[in-house]
Amino acid sequence: MRWTRSLITTLRDDPQEAEIDSHKLMLRAAFIRKLSGGLYTFLPLGLRSLHKVERIVREEMDRAGALEILMPALQPADLWEQSGRLATMGPGMFKLKDRQERLMALGPTHEEVVTDLIAREVNSYRQLPCTVYQIQTKFRDEIRPRFGLMRAKEFIMKDAYSFDTSLEAADASYQAMYDAYVRIFRRCGLRTKPVEADTGDIGGKWSHEFMVMADAGEDGIVECAACAYAANQEKAERRSPAAPAILAASPPIQEIPTPGAHTIDQVAAAIKCAPAQLIKTLLYVADGKPVGALVPGDREVNEHKLKRALGCKRLELADEATIRKVTGAAVGFAGPVGLMSLPLYADAALQGATGRFAGANKDDTHVANVDLARDARVTEFLDLVVVCEGDACPRCDGSLRVVRGIEVGHVFKLGTKYSESFQAKCLNEKGQAELMVMGCYGIGVTRTLQAVIEQSRDANGIIWPVSVAPYTVALLLLDPKDAAVTATAEKLAGELEAIGIDVLLDDREERPGVKFKDADLIGIPFRVVAGAKSLAKGGVEVKARTSKDFQLVPAEQAAATIAGLVAAARQALA
Ligand code: ATP
Ligand code: MG
Repeated sequence: MRWTRSLITTLRDDPQEAEIDSHKLMLRAAFIRKLSGGLYTFLPLGLRSLHKVERIVREEMDRAGALEILMPALQPADLWEQSGRLATMGPGMFKLKDRQERLMALGPTHEEVVTDLIAREVNSYRQLPCTVYQIQTKFRDEIRPRFGLMRAKEFIMKDAYSFDTSLEAADASYQAMYDAYVRIFRRCGLRTKPVEADTGDIGGKWSHEFMVMADAGEDGIVECAACAYAANQEKAERRSPAAPAILAASPPIQEIPTPGAHTIDQVAAAIKCAPAQLIKTLLYVADGKPVGALVPGDREVNEHKLKRALGCKRLELADEATIRKVTGAAVGFAGPVGLMSLPLYADAALQGATGRFAGANKDDTHVANVDLARDARVTEFLDLVVVCEGDACPRCDGSLRVVRGIEVGHVFKLGTKYSESFQAKCLNEKGQAELMVMGCYGIGVTRTLQAVIEQSRDANGIIWPVSVAPYTVALLLLDPKDAAVTATAEKLAGELEAIGIDVLLDDREERPGVKFKDADLIGIPFRVVAGAKSLAKGGVEVKARTSKDFQLVPAEQAAATIAGLVAAARQALA
């Protein structure tokens, strides 16, 4: 491909709209352009890389035995009614009506459509196991679309769904997808870490996320310094500190005036205690009913854990009126003492807590000497906090640390959640109809592409792994008016193309410095310079994007030399 025919307009400066480096680089290197918030056009360079990622995904899905299908993005909302997700997906789902006033949705995911499909297509155990996949556009009305392709309103996902006759068979299908994911990300040149994950709105029993460790990541990842434990912070557990020895007799509860002290810090300052000595009491409404959550004052409630413990569909913080109604006090003065009719869920670290401070359920007042066992009725003690740096590992004696990550893929064991809704059954060997056991598996294809850049770049631009680079070789023709140089460059480009190495021939009438800068910015793995000077010295200059030095190679040997370098780079990712 000739640069002059290629629609590559690189940008010198960082675009205002971009916050993270990979997004800036995708714009500057002319991979994507913004249409509006969360909506992007792929330019030719971006689309070439995207197709390469898709190809790797396809090859590995096919290798794992999954069958490619293509389901409509536009779906009747009835299907979502049937699974009960029309309500739970809420405003995150794009909805519209057709001309018959029938409610439709733009698919944020495809469990409903695929389960309905397989329920009709499969009726015997002989047809199982069956895993189908598609690479297709998804729509999500994200609260905060940002970071370019990382969190878009419209994006490309590879989604796969497995159907099995038993839990054991489903485990094998899950493992096959897990292994395929490991290969896919490795072939894309991405270092990923599988972590235990919350099952969220999709529901189900067990799941792993494939994370790319990066400071720009939106997810917190908890990992143990000593063992292999790693989990999304939404799901991460900790070994709760041992319960403190219970005092023989706690002094009686005593009220302390704390006028105007609403936050933990304000209260701690007013009482002159450490935040950890306070019992933080938060009121929630779970499926319409109020509940209380108690955690040490210096910790945050993990709402995913609370939601799971309650088994509720909706959980939100109680509003001011509800708090006033339940506690009799303004926001900031709730406490466990005397809230006898309210179900209270407390973090395990509070079991046996004595001598604590808490809200008095009375305006501008807290209480001292709280003995939780004596003064409150806790429904359940459980691990309820957001895990922090330094917490104890739930699996070993190690301590936990928190890092940032980008979720590029997700594998779920779904069980029979959707097969129940759609009565997706098949006949077993005894001729009895049984629900199929499902799994679902997603890869954010467009997000993966950008994650590669987030992980592989330097001050000059992108550093593409050879497998997903838009072109493998940037051939810089420095003197396009010089017929001999042009002939050499064009011949080499032709030779490389003939052996399956794609070349971007920079034939612009530009200064060498501009061409060098652009080649680095776009991040093409190998750079070849053909100029009057280099030819006079005996050939063309060949250099990897990652190395400082070039080698001078006679023009007639250049194709073979480059082929060797490319083969080695490809091999390293195989
Ligand atoms: P997130 O937690 O980042 O919102 P998710 O858990 O909702 O993602 P899944 O339903 O697991 O996403 O979708 C599978 C994959 O699709 C994700 O692992 C991610 O790579 C990708 N993905 C999800 N939402 C978006 C988005 N808004 N833009 C781009 N990719 C996305
Ligand atoms: Mg996910």
